[in-house]
Amino acid sequence: MSGISKLAKRVLRLSKCSLGTEEKNAIVRVLDSEFLGMGKEVQAFEQELKSFLGTSHEVICVNTGTAALHLAIEALGLGEGDEVIIPSITYVASFQAASAARVKAVACDVLENTFFIDLEDAARRITPKTKAIMPVHFASDSSQIAKVYEFAKHHNLRVIEDAAHSFGGTRNGQKIGFDGDVLCFSFDGIKNITSGEGGAIVTGDKVVAQRVKDARLLGVEKDTEKRFQGARSWVFDVKHQGYRYHMSDIMAALGREQLKKVDTLVERRKHLVQIYLKELSELSEVKPLELDYKKIGSHIFVVKILAKNRDDVSKEMQTMGVPTGIHYYPNHLLSLYKTNYDLPVTEKVMEQMMTLPLHPDLSDEDVKYVCQCLRQVIKG
Ligand SMILES: *Cc1c(COP(=O)(O)O)cnc(C)c1O
Repeated sequence: MSGISKLAKRVLRLSKCSLGTEEKNAIVRVLDSEFLGMGKEVQAFEQELKSFLGTSHEVICVNTGTAALHLAIEALGLGEGDEVIIPSITYVASFQAASAARVKAVACDVLENTFFIDLEDAARRITPKTKAIMPVHFASDSSQIAKVYEFAKHHNLRVIEDAAHSFGGTRNGQKIGFDGDVLCFSFDGIKNITSGEGGAIVTGDKVVAQRVKDARLLGVEKDTEKRFQGARSWVFDVKHQGYRYHMSDIMAALGREQLKKVDTLVERRKHLVQIYLKELSELSEVKPLELDYKKIGSHIFVVKILAKNRDDVSKEMQTMGVPTGIHYYPNHLLSLYKTNYDLPVTEKVMEQMMTLPLHPDLSDEDVKYVCQCLRQVIKG
């Protein structure tokens, strides 16, 4: 095994977008048109997303993934006095989306080897107020989603899938987003594709879709349809709370170029993950999550550090030019979402979880370098 001292130090990034001149030109094209709001580019992006997903569902773009989740919850008619069950290990956006809608975010535990929602624990969190469940496609994995839908059917719940990590991946031969009750994507700057910031709601429920379309434009009824015809609503009605959550044409133009490249970007992620799996296979102290890596479009690559203190490992990796991350600090330990019960698996894995660099612009050698650094830190 070659020592790190023999390696030229590399300075890597944990995650980032991957952009080319196509994206830059698309943005300039919109600037030149001097129409920057929600218009033809957003309409085209929505249609292109729909055909990419191969779905009969509607696709509605908004300005962030968090806004997508917030609008999804409100469009389902949830509000004050209702509860939604969410795995504690997720970005705080999932929890904030619920509390923004005045819905109580009820934290539940995760499975130890995937960090996917633990339905046995979810069953313990059911109350007469529970109206929905929000499974998170953690690290792009949603292989057990059918069980969530069985659970939801049994308890009469709606399902809001937080699919922020999983754009471009597949399950059972279909694209993620092909089906589902209400599913939300994020296109923020580090996700599998980006529109700068951005997000989308995908649903086959016509009532929910219309509520979302109106709510992204301050609740102005049918304003989406007007704007897509290059018109505006001057006389209108508003029945529900709305927001300025629409996507702009600048964002959509960027997103459209990224969508053309998504298969290449996702293939690159898959390829890099395979190198990680091979390089780390003999390092028993470092255990990757047990996911279907050949199918999913890995947004993050998460391992558990079993033998050494995770924070010490992170610090040493940082000095070698390798940033690492923690996805995520549990929400049920935050002041706003504190629970009066423990979540044993979450509290165990929170000390072990470590995210290694992953983005399409890493070279094969970069990933091998990360693994060599990790091997040296663990064994040294
Ligand atoms: C990124 C992310 C979100 C929020 O998306 P934004 O576009 O950043 O608002 C929600 N949930 C998860 C799990 C995410 O990773």
